[in-house]
Amino acid sequence: MKAFYSIRFVLPLPPGHRFPMGKYARLRERVAAELPAVTLGPAEPATDGQLALAHAPAYIDAVARGTLDARAQREIGFPWSEAMVERSRRSVGATIAAARAARAEGVAANLAGGTHHAGAGGGSGYCVFNDVAVAARLMQAEHTRRQPSARPPRVAVIDLDVHQGNGTAAIFAGDASVFTLSLHGEKNFPFRKVAGDLDVGLPDGTGDDEYLHALELALAELEARFDADLVFYLAGADPHEGDRLGRLRLSHDGLQARDRRVFDWAWRRRLPLALSMAGGYGRDIATTVQAQMNTFGVALEYWRRWQNGAR
Ligand SMILES: [Zn+2]
Repeated sequence: MKAFYSIRFVLPLPPGHRFPMGKYARLRERVAAELPAVTLGPAEPATDGQLALAHAPAYIDAVARGTLDARAQREIGFPWSEAMVERSRRSVGATIAAARAARAEGVAANLAGGTHHAGAGGGSGYCVFNDVAVAARLMQAEHTRRQPSARPPRVAVIDLDVHQGNGTAAIFAGDASVFTLSLHGEKNFPFRKVAGDLDVGLPDGTGDDEYLHALELALAELEARFDADLVFYLAGADPHEGDRLGRLRLSHDGLQARDRRVFDWAWRRRLPLALSMAGGYGRDIATTVQAQMNTFGVALEYWRRWQNGAR
């Protein structure tokens, strides 16, 4: 299974910054050491033209030049630097690469990504560009370029990060070719949600059983309302009970059952699935990386099913 990363995912931050940047390197080290069936490949930076599929040119330009005003930069939560721009471009590039690989092989992953708070004209909550939004639009554009008369692929975004996918919802508002599903903590950031196609807000303290039940209902509704060709899955580790920011109480088993449910749903419909890791802020960062490793375990299992035929 192909998975894409960049050593540039690890952005040097000021001392005491609360974003757990170290998780990316740890995940990559563990995947490389423990999952030999995963082929790690470097991500190319997304170009301005690609980013413009989901973002306003003026915003892309301001990020690239470092001319965002102080309020917009604060909203992102990282100080501006060349490295921040490069990281953001490569994180989108890794999801683009994963989407292409998923269309060829059924399942592929970005070792980062899931930057779902970024909207067309601004970033937020550690998200500069919206990797899934750009990649979804690019997959549609590439398809149209190859087969101008064919219907572009219809994309389901299954966002199970604990925070609502407000940026993705805003970008695709009014776009009937993309369905945005978000299952999230109702009282968590962002405090002003943007309605997507299907939003399920969960109370603080939600545990495995309630969560899995809500997911089941949400997937059934997605199925009833939308005929998908391609899936982007944001497998946030932040619904875990050990997360600093999550406010939910899923166990490792619960999170893995969640992943299995999503992969199984896509597999039964033979829908290619591109995985992004999204959030994870474990009190102990090893907990977050363990949850992500478990997600990779499930992803590999379904990638193998694709390779064993029955397409
Ligand atoms: Zn999150």
